[in-house]
Amino acid sequence: MRSIIITTFCIVLSLFVSCSSSTPVVEEIIDVVEGTPVKERPINVILMIADGTGLSQISASQFYNVNTSNYERFRHIGLIKTSSSSDLITDSAAGATAFASGIKTYNGAIGVDNDTIAKPTILEQLDRKGYKTGVIATSTITHATPASFYAHVRYRKMEEEIAEALTLSGVDFFAGGGLKYFNARSDKKDLLSQLQTKGFEVETNFLNTDAFLSPDKKYGFLLAEEGMPKMIDGRGPFLKNATQLGINHLSQNKQPFFMMIEGSQVDWGGHANEANYLIGEIIDFDDTLGYVLDYAKRDGNTLVVVTADHETGGFTLASDDGNYNIIKPTFSTGGHSATMVPVFAYGPGAKNFAGIYENTEIYHKITRILNR
Ligand code: MG
Ligand code: ZN
Repeated sequence: MRSIIITTFCIVLSLFVSCSSSTPVVEEIIDVVEGTPVKERPINVILMIADGTGLSQISASQFYNVNTSNYERFRHIGLIKTSSSSDLITDSAAGATAFASGIKTYNGAIGVDNDTIAKPTILEQLDRKGYKTGVIATSTITHATPASFYAHVRYRKMEEEIAEALTLSGVDFFAGGGLKYFNARSDKKDLLSQLQTKGFEVETNFLNTDAFLSPDKKYGFLLAEEGMPKMIDGRGPFLKNATQLGINHLSQNKQPFFMMIEGSQVDWGGHANEANYLIGEIIDFDDTLGYVLDYAKRDGNTLVVVTADHETGGFTLASDDGNYNIIKPTFSTGGHSATMVPVFAYGPGAKNFAGIYENTEIYHKITRILNR
């Protein structure tokens, strides 16, 4: 009798455990901090990636700005472990593939697993469900981070193949650099006209936030041969303007949308061990973040997830040899580091992003929340 009761209890318990582990945390109806009603399930998702951004980079966006940053507007914060399947320290390709496809893969892999088999990305899956989709980056649009959302190649340097994948993808709006991978290719193909035949208007000179964007067209902005200029070299508010234009375009049909927005060059400032470069880039990203959070607050149906693929530079805000009132930004490597990086979430479903988990969970959490 007793063993039957115990067995029954275990069955009930295991049912409960398996149930609860696959069911996301129920979201509150009222966001207690903002005081605004939020629905449990978001309609739109904006994933923002500041490449190479750990806590010191985010702290720099406070100390070197106005002592505060838009990151402070979040109440739901977590940490991710970023190792790839091949290395303790990930690169941006494996890091973005973890977010985009929910798998751990090898450094250099774009949207493919350890056996170089293509894995569907969240952008592709949502596109098939009728979402509008967008990718924005301050690197080439074919660089590892954005590429991992729409392309499947075995190695990140295959940017010509990645550009071709973009023309065949379901992306409705993109903005970034990388023009030469479309119009000065080794195979002489003209991908700009290929984009036009796919319904794109392509702009290679400037981005005007007041431009009329037809809901029936797709838009591509390729505003530099390679990466976009650095902020310290006068890039200006490209990231924020592209984000504004992209949100305007993708939201105008009242269809749900998914957007990936990358501050690509925080990473490059870290690799160069140039604090001024890095700080210019993180402040630019923070500015864009402010715009996105304002939009999400107005909209009420948009989940915003902000994170990084890894930290770059082993960056610290060290004291200047014991002078505790002077910060001396210091780097410990020209590469990436293995430290956990923070995740910030706002909007319906945001609570699910608290805790410490693997980078692949970004994909799984968003997917679970949308399928709720
Ligand atoms: Mg990147
Ligand atoms: Zn890097």
